[in-house]
Amino acid sequence: MSNPGEYALNSKAVAQATAEWLAKRGVTKREIAELTLFLQKDYYPDLTLRECEENVDAVLSKREVQNAVLTGIQLDLLAEEGKLMAPLQEMIHNDEGLYGCDEILALSIVNVYGSIGLTNFGYVDKLKPGILVRLNDKHDGEIHTFLDDIVGAIAAAAASRIAHRKQAEREEARGERGEDVQLP
Ligand SMILES: [Mg+2]
Repeated sequence: MSNPGEYALNSKAVAQATAEWLAKRGVTKREIAELTLFLQKDYYPDLTLRECEENVDAVLSKREVQNAVLTGIQLDLLAEEGKLMAPLQEMIHNDEGLYGCDEILALSIVNVYGSIGLTNFGYVDKLKPGILVRLNDKHDGEIHTFLDDIVGAIAAAAASRIAHRKQAEREEARGERGEDVQLP
């Protein structure tokens, strides 16, 4: 039996597990970055895939994001193994449209970077471009009911981060303070 007194959060282990499980589930940072580029290329024509990948990295470094990734992948895996209780098992296995907890978990990622992330998340969820096509394929035996939303949310959060940083860069270029500004 575990002794609660001995538990200590290991942030490095959480980050490492996040990277490992994303890779095991076939998701690369580049593919998430491609979604981010898709979301932002019309607003920033000079935006590069590399820049998007750096922003995806920054999103993935957040504790809330790592927690959501691990929780979502765990639930997908348990559903794949048929280990969830009924009728939750059937709902997650079949990606039931009226079961919205996958989207709600993903919102904990989007919330980190504000409302631009929220609107972009809704947009990719409807359109399902790029890697989301594969994650939504119901014929390969894999279940990604949670992971598809999580990947969309990471891409959307990175898009939001880019928008805020681009504005800050513009203000800095004008010699103004670019980051959050206190009220006078
Ligand atoms: Mg889903």
